Amino acid sequence: MKGKIKVGFDFDGVVAYNPFRVVRPIIAFIKHDILGIKKLRFWYPQKKWQQIFWVIVHESSIYPACGIELLKKMVTDQQIEAHLITARYSFLNNRLHNWLNKYKLSGYFKTINLNINDDQPHLFKSELIDKYRLNYYIEDNWDIVNYLANCKKQKKTDFNTKIFWIYNVSDRNIKFPSKFPYLQKALEELSKQIKNRRDSTHLTQVCPYRVNNQISGNS
Ligand SMILES: [Mg+2]
Repeated sequence: MKGKIKVGFDFDGVVAYNPFRVVRPIIAFIKHDILGIKKLRFWYPQKKWQQIFWVIVHESSIYPACGIELLKKMVTDQQIEAHLITARYSFLNNRLHNWLNKYKLSGYFKTINLNINDDQPHLFKSELIDKYRLNYYIEDNWDIVNYLANCKKQKKTDFNTKIFWIYNVSDRNIKFPSKFPYLQKALEELSKQIKNRRDSTHLTQVCPYRVNNQISGNS
C-alpha cells in the first residue's frame, strides 16, 4: 500500500467517549426480537421534543476518548490521514463543531463529514468509506460494523477497507476479528499494522536482489 494510510473515524463513541452507547443491544433486542424488525433502520427523531431528547443523549459525548493524544501524534507524524465521518443528524451539527473547537481537534482531520441530508447512518458511512477509499474505518456501533463487514463480504463495496470495532461492555461477547475496548487500543494495533507494512515494503526496496533471487530460485 503506497502513500499515507487513510483512516476514517466515527465521532460518538470513538473520538468522543459516550456512556449512552451501552444501550445499543437493548434497542436492537426490542427492534429485532419484540417488534420483529429485521432490516437495519435507525430511528429519526421527527418531533421537536424527540430532537431535544436526542440532543441530550448526544451531549453526553462530553470529553475526548482515551487515545486522542495518540490520534493527534499519528496525524502529526504523518502516519495517517484522518477523516471524521459522523452520521449525527443535521440538527446536531453546530454542537459537533463547538465540541471540536473546544478541544482544538478540527485541524487534525483532513475532512469533517456531516450527515446534512439526514441519511440512514449505515448507508451514509458506507458511501463515504468508498468515496475516500479508506484503508481503515473505526466505528463503535455493532449494527453498523456488522453491516459494513457484510458489504465487504458480499462485495457491495469496491474498496478493501479494514473495519475496526470499538465495542462496549454489553456487546463484548460478539465475535469480530478486530475489536477493541477503546480508541487507544485500536490505534496501537493500527500503528503496529502500519509499521509491519512499512517494514515489508522497505525490505523489498533495500533487498531487491534477495527478493528477485528468491523468485528466480523458485521458478
Ligand atoms: Mg458512534
